[in-house]
Amino acid sequence: MSELKKYTGGCHCGKVAYEVSANLDNVISCNCSICQKRGMLLTFVPPEQFVLQKGDEKALTDYQFNKKVIHHLFCPECGVESFATGTTPDGKRMYAINVRCLEDVDLAALKPQPVDGRRF
Ligand SMILES: [Zn+2]
Repeated sequence: MSELKKYTGGCHCGKVAYEVSANLDNVISCNCSICQKRGMLLTFVPPEQFVLQKGDEKALTDYQFNKKVIHHLFCPECGVESFATGTTPDGKRMYAINVRCLEDVDLAALKPQPVDGRRF
């Protein structure tokens, strides 16, 4: 059932563009201090499913807080955080995709799973 589909995404001004294979049955809406303020809807993918086509991770503004395990990367031009990257507790790299930044997604049809990120 968990079908991967290809999506393109990126920031607002176009400096950041990527292609990602994701299953949007698994979308979370997190209430942690940053997701709440940014209104993020997230899905998580391993590096094999993420290709940055435009922009350079190092050229993006990197915001870190709390335990500093996640790099919140946002475009220095338009300020949109279209993805974040970090390391899972078992040491694997992962990408957190801001589903609101993907093209051709019917956001109203998604059923985001609430995650109590504030607790962590
Ligand atoms: Zn931008």
